Amino acid sequence: MFLRELKEPLLRLKGAGPALAAKLARLGISTVAGLLCHYPRDWEDRSRHLPLKDWSKGRVCTEVQVLAHDWFGFGRMRTLKIYVEDESARACLLCFNRPFLEKQLQTGTRCRLYGHFHYKYGDIQSSAFEVEPINDSTGGFAEGGFGGGRILPVYPLTLGLSQGALRKLMHRALQHYAPALEDELPESIIRRDALPRKSHAIRAIHFPASHEELETARKALIYEELFYLEVMIGKRSMQRKSGITHEQRLEGNEQRAISSLQRRLVERLPFELTPGQESAVGEINRDVAGPFPMARLLQGDVGSGKTLVSFMAALKALEGGGQTALMAPTELLARQHAENAARLLEPLGVRIAFLTGNLKASGRAHLLKALVAGEIDMVAGTHALFSRDVEYRNLRLVVVDEQHRFGVLQRQAIMAKSVTSSPDLLMMSSTPIPRSLALTVFGDLDVSEIQDMPPGRKPVKTHLARETNEQKVYDFVQRELAAGHQAYFVYPLIDGGDENDLKDAVSMAERLAKEVFPEFPLALLHSKVDEEEKRRIMDDFRKGDIKILAATSVVEVGVDVPNATCMVVEHAERFGLSALHQLRGRVGRGQAQSYCFLVYADNLTDIGKTRLKVMLENSNGFIIAEEDLKLRGPGQIAGLAQSGYLTLGLSDPIRDAAELARARADAFAMLETDPDLALAENRRIAEVLQRAPPFGEVGN
Ligand code: ADP
Ligand code: MG
Repeated sequence: MFLRELKEPLLRLKGAGPALAAKLARLGISTVAGLLCHYPRDWEDRSRHLPLKDWSKGRVCTEVQVLAHDWFGFGRMRTLKIYVEDESARACLLCFNRPFLEKQLQTGTRCRLYGHFHYKYGDIQSSAFEVEPINDSTGGFAEGGFGGGRILPVYPLTLGLSQGALRKLMHRALQHYAPALEDELPESIIRRDALPRKSHAIRAIHFPASHEELETARKALIYEELFYLEVMIGKRSMQRKSGITHEQRLEGNEQRAISSLQRRLVERLPFELTPGQESAVGEINRDVAGPFPMARLLQGDVGSGKTLVSFMAALKALEGGGQTALMAPTELLARQHAENAARLLEPLGVRIAFLTGNLKASGRAHLLKALVAGEIDMVAGTHALFSRDVEYRNLRLVVVDEQHRFGVLQRQAIMAKSVTSSPDLLMMSSTPIPRSLALTVFGDLDVSEIQDMPPGRKPVKTHLARETNEQKVYDFVQRELAAGHQAYFVYPLIDGGDENDLKDAVSMAERLAKEVFPEFPLALLHSKVDEEEKRRIMDDFRKGDIKILAATSVVEVGVDVPNATCMVVEHAERFGLSALHQLRGRVGRGQAQSYCFLVYADNLTDIGKTRLKVMLENSNGFIIAEEDLKLRGPGQIAGLAQSGYLTLGLSDPIRDAAELARARADAFAMLETDPDLALAENRRIAEVLQRAPPFGEVGN
């Protein structure tokens, strides 16, 4: 049995009742496999002795004898105090909410004690401790201890779930299931690198017997994850590239030509496609007509016109009889896409819908029906598009807009939505992905780039301004507003609170409306504004009924109002480079000259200063992304990878770059020698791998 095949519900485990199961569900754990893959975030070493007298040097870890009990406080506050002693000193344990310890730790009992201590009222004392009676009848499980190893797992938890309970359950699951686990890596690799067996590694990652064992297990599991990632990536790119013959390529070039429906859209536009848009459309058309599902990343700076390209792709899908799902990161943006699509595509007979998590039940049911009946050609929405109850009649194209946190695994999930075969996938990004990440996260994608901007765009003029000079900025904006243009004011916080003196959107909206620009209609926009209200505000802003938008960075991504010419970012030093770049991209979208004011506080840090300088000197998103990477350093980026770029588990493709390279080489070599493998379904791939030819035999 492979680990991931352990689909048994947790309730089957002894000791896992509905209450515990519900808590685990909150951590996304519902099966035994999920539980075993809930890796510790840290390990606590209880093998290193630290006697009580050295409490100030770290976590005490010692063996003590119980000397006496005492109680203090009254009524419900009555609290047990236990005096203990080891070879070096006496100490006092404050047992808040643990009255049951009275029975467990009777006078004279010997136990292991762990915890952080401090000195107070003449005692070395602790309320954050764990005890484990030695040789007691619970086998060392009392108080969340674990009887076996001396290095204990520390898990990510959720409300009401204790380390002790989780450890106990994990231990039981391991005892029951681990021994029978099959290896997932090819035998040849396990031998070559002398890796531990899966059954051993999975036990050791949770309850290692030693630091060495932990390290070996961790390495092996990390390698396994990366190996599978690369197998998946390799498989895709091989599928797409190998089968294409020279003839097909030539044919492919013909297929680049725009289709009749696409031509009708282009003819309706008041402008021409830019060369970048044209070639992206060509590449998409060729992919769509080709023998393999498209997997393409469309990169282009803010305002380069990616949306239109995705509409062209949707038309192509429609001509092939298929549906398109267009996913955006926020509801605001999804709605804007739906509206633009309605404006541009409905006249061509395309049936558009809009789906988000906020849709009322009745409307939702109706929409879902229409989707599965094929009465909708294109649906724009948030990730709700891929909720479990959403079914498509014939999903042919998935467009994912500005969704950087969208790793390989999420892509797999979406691919599974299509009944017949994998739909075509178009991912759009205006934040170029750093090279190192691209290799792993987007290693299976082809890339189109739009390098040019629509003609007539004037570069946005950027100015830095000290906070103390904000009046000058306001005066400038006043003139723009008077000339009929619109403006954004962006703040780092929704509302202030007392503890800082940052400007926030709520109070500044009031000030701008009352004192600074009383003659211009203003609205406040942030993530807590309700969706209906947001929509009304955006509509009014787009129509020009609202002139000023005071907002948080919700306006960051994708919002498109060409008449807006001023972007004022206050406390600009608080924003990251890519956010600043996105914000600046909200203006300069029409014919008029646009301006971006980065207003900063006087107590500017060095890094803040550098960021503002980068913004002042650069307008190209690709360059700004690189500067961003330099400023934040690999550590930060690694965090980014963990935060969802890749939902892998133990591995971090940046930190584990060396392992990644090895896994990639192994995976690709294996795919080269075994074409069957490249075609095998993911589900069965582990089995196929078991049968794959051994490594290192050739030439060895
Ligand atoms: P982004 O690439 O940032 O998503 P959008 O797709 O939002 O950019 O396009 C920005 C604006 O440019 C939109 O108002 C769109 O209508 C306009 N646009 C798109 N293509 C062209 C073009 N070829 N010529 C002129 N304007 C265009
Ligand atoms: Mg966009």
